Amino acid sequence: MKIALVGIGKIALDQHVPAIAASPDWELAATVSRSGRVADVPAFTDFDTFLAERPDVPVVSLCMPPVPRYAYAAAALRAGRHVMLEKPPGATLAEVYDLQAMAAARGLTLYTTWHSRMAHAVAAAKAWLADTTVTQAHITWREDVRKWHPGQDWVFEPGGMGVFDPGSNALSILTHVLPRPVHLTAATLDFPSNRQTPIAAQMTFTGGVTADFDWRQTGPQTWDITFDTPKGALALRMGGNVIEVNGKPAGGENTIMGEYPALYAAMTDLIRQGRSDVDLAPMIHVADALTLGARREVEAFHF
Ligand code: NAP
Repeated sequence: MKIALVGIGKIALDQHVPAIAASPDWELAATVSRSGRVADVPAFTDFDTFLAERPDVPVVSLCMPPVPRYAYAAAALRAGRHVMLEKPPGATLAEVYDLQAMAAARGLTLYTTWHSRMAHAVAAAKAWLADTTVTQAHITWREDVRKWHPGQDWVFEPGGMGVFDPGSNALSILTHVLPRPVHLTAATLDFPSNRQTPIAAQMTFTGGVTADFDWRQTGPQTWDITFDTPKGALALRMGGNVIEVNGKPAGGENTIMGEYPALYAAMTDLIRQGRSDVDLAPMIHVADALTLGARREVEAFHF
């Protein structure tokens, strides 16, 4: 199938372009971006022009930040295209529900991707936890925003979600592997004095689940989730790519490079089956934290 990538920035170039190139299912037929482009691929700078001039491209994958994404997704659905959304799928829950209804009314596929769910060890963790009870779980998601979002001020603007941008990756794994859902009961959010979104967050959920997100981590980066159960301890490390059971390696692969190929394979299946996959569970926890969380002001942040 022909596909267009829209919003040619960091994640499009790092992950989407190589995943599409490596897939037998997909042909990158166009890009739409005000400044970015991909060598040897027809490039548009305006989305409406692309939609009008390329009716031969039935699928679009939207890689821009969450705030502008709704308008692009709605235009694509109105023009009869299947749509794949980067995470988090929108700036608000309501706009994604609206897209879901639009896609359903038109018989089109809408896929709210959560790339971390495709990490190498997530399916194994889900299977291991399925027949037990999680008595405690803890997320440690500490990374350096300057390394992963260099100069990207949008993450600190309203709708950019701050540390919940990477934190939603952890929450996407948590909501996928837990045998029973949990909900947030308390949170503390650290806002830099010059910014609109939190740079760190501590969250408490029902079921003994806690989370520690921090974007100020220099040196070693940590993307771990640990689970205590009556049958033993399970840990997911490296963003869900590596699994340990009772402290011993139990599988996975220490690379993130399998996640986007798996997303594009899933999109192929959804279109073939005429289905959508819209899951807002991770974003509900983010919205709840922004609703219920206590705000603390911390040192100003500059890239
Ligand atoms: P980015 O490089 O800052 O932005 C991607 C592209 O979106 C930009 O190059 C820009 O292209 C376009 N864009 C930006 N603002 C826009 C606007 N107001 N209207 C229309 N287009 C706009 O961001 P990114 O890091 O790729 O992240 C994009 C999405 O991918 C986010 O939702 C993020 O959570 C997700 N993601 C990022 C990473 C990562 O490591 N960075 C990893 C996984 C997922 P033009 O200016 O050329 O139009």
